Amino acid sequence: MELIPLIGMTPGRLREVAAEVGLKPFAARQMAAWLYQRRVTDIDAMTDLSKAARARLKEKYCIGRTEPKARALSADGTAKYLFEGAPGRDVEAVMIPEADRATLCVSSQAGCKMNCRFCMTGRQGFHGNLTAAQIINQVLSVPESEQLTNIVFMGMGEPTDNLDAVLAAIEILTEPWGLAWSPKRITVSTVGNMSGLRTLLDCTRVHIAVSVHSPFAADRAAIMPVERACPVKDIMELLRGYDFAHQRRLSVEYIMWRGLNDTPRHADALARLIKGTDARVNLIRFHAIPGVDMQPSVRGVMESFRDRLNDAGVTATIRASRGEDIDAACGMLAGKDLRPADNQPNNP
Ligand code: SF4
Repeated sequence: MELIPLIGMTPGRLREVAAEVGLKPFAARQMAAWLYQRRVTDIDAMTDLSKAARARLKEKYCIGRTEPKARALSADGTAKYLFEGAPGRDVEAVMIPEADRATLCVSSQAGCKMNCRFCMTGRQGFHGNLTAAQIINQVLSVPESEQLTNIVFMGMGEPTDNLDAVLAAIEILTEPWGLAWSPKRITVSTVGNMSGLRTLLDCTRVHIAVSVHSPFAADRAAIMPVERACPVKDIMELLRGYDFAHQRRLSVEYIMWRGLNDTPRHADALARLIKGTDARVNLIRFHAIPGVDMQPSVRGVMESFRDRLNDAGVTATIRASRGEDIDAACGMLAGKDLRPADNQPNNP
C-alpha cells in the first residue's frame, strides 16, 4: 500500500489522522509542529508521540519529504531543482538568490492546460495537479529551504486551476502552526481565471501577479487562449474592487516581444487598461524557446516602453532575467531531464 504523506495536511486533517491511530486531538498540533517547524523527515523523530502511536502511523502514513532528483546551477547563482510530479512527468522549482532575498519559484501543476503560445510548460500539455504535499515539499526540500525569504507561485502550472491544493499550501505557509510566513512574502501568479482569482483575493492576503502580455483582446487571445473565457478587461474590473495600495501588492506581468506588443500604442493601452488598480508593471524579456517564432524586444525599446508607462503615472520596471543558461527563466520550465550543465561538481 502506498503511504500517504503527512506534509500538506492542515490541523483539521491531522486530527482525523490522530483519531485513526488512537491519539488525542491535541496530537494534531504536535504533528504540525514536527512537520512544519522542526521539519522532521522521519515519523520516529516525533518523540512526543508514543512509540506505539508512531508505529501505527507508519503503517499508513509517511512524512512525504522527497529530495530533488537533480539540480542545475546557473552562472548567476540561480538553481533549478527537479521534483517528482505526475507519473512520468517531473516538475521544477527555481531558487533565485539576490543580495537581500532568496526567492523560490514553485510549481503547482505538472504541465498546464492554458496553452500560452510562448511557454514551454504550456506546450507540453497537462499531466496532473500537484498535491499540497508536493507543493510544500518543494519549499521544505530544496537545500536552501531555511534561507528562503520569498515564495512565488510562478513555476509550472496555473495556480487557480489547482486552487484547493494551492490554498492548502498557502495556509500551511502562513498559519502560526505551519511555517508562519507573512503573506507579504508570497505571490501567486495567474493568467486570470475569474472565480479562482476572486477566491484568492477573498480567502488569502498574498500578493497577486496577473499575466497580461497584451492590452488588446484579440492580440492577447492569439498568445493566451484563456483571454476568450476570461477577458483581461474583466479581470481588471474585478481587481479595481480590491485595495492594492496597502498590505498587499498587485503586479502586472508583461513579456515583451519585438513588434508584437512593444509599441507606444501598446504602452498607452496598457496604462489605460490597468488604471485604477494600483498595479505595478514588470516588463520581462522573452527567452526564445524551440518552435516558437516570437522574438524578444530589444533593450532600448523596453526602456522606452517603461519610460512611457512611468510618464503615464504607472510604476514599471524591467525585471532582471535569471537562470537563462539552465532554462530556468520565465516561460522556460519543462520538467524534463536537466541539461548537461547539471553535471556540475556541486550537484547533490
Ligand atoms: S504561462 Fe503559465 S498559464 Fe500559461 S501555459 Fe505557461 S504555466 Fe500555463
